Amino acid sequence: MCDTKAPAIGKRLTTASGVIYYPNTPEGEAAAKEDRNKNMGPGAEEEHHAPAEQPPFDSTDCKTYTDAQWDTGCSKLFKYSHMGIKPNGGGVGPGEVACNWQKLCENILDKVKAQFPALYISSGFRPGKGQSDHGYGRAADIQILGPNKVEMSKQIFKFIGSNGLPYSQLLFEGNWVHVAYGGGSNAASAIGIARDGANFSSWHQRSGAGLPSDLKWA
Ligand SMILES: [Zn+2]
Repeated sequence: MCDTKAPAIGKRLTTASGVIYYPNTPEGEAAAKEDRNKNMGPGAEEEHHAPAEQPPFDSTDCKTYTDAQWDTGCSKLFKYSHMGIKPNGGGVGPGEVACNWQKLCENILDKVKAQFPALYISSGFRPGKGQSDHGYGRAADIQILGPNKVEMSKQIFKFIGSNGLPYSQLLFEGNWVHVAYGGGSNAASAIGIARDGANFSSWHQRSGAGLPSDLKWA
């Protein structure tokens, strides 16, 4: 699904390799929001999981990023363009966002995509202040589009948890899963459950102890 061609109408663009992205303009950001609302449903615009504090930046093993690299691979299965909007205007500079995104792709998203080839990134980077881990390139909202979104989100959530992927935060939000790598969260709120995408019903430690039965992996 993520490589489906969209009409190039100025608000939604497609890279030469077929990745849909949005221009860094008010129109582009509005189109990104519209598509998030369509794919994710209620809660898509909530910023209820804003972390209090971001950990220090670590540039180890990061490639150099400029917009010339936008449509090139940052990991085995993902490109910088999969973050959806060029990494300008976030909580930190573009090179730092791109580096964080590379690490999220290498450490988490590659492994999820290998297991779920239809995996779709509904939201990667988000410009603006107060955009939680998304504003730093450290988080992605992922889902499998189609009639079984919720069931597929459960499977993705359980796969990430049961395989011990090194997320900093993992949120089950109903239609989608929010996953962050190297972002701001603490152990007590590493895992959150918001079935309607908006209201969190419970928070859990990384071990997943006490998760509801349909989301439990151990
Ligand atoms: Zn998110």
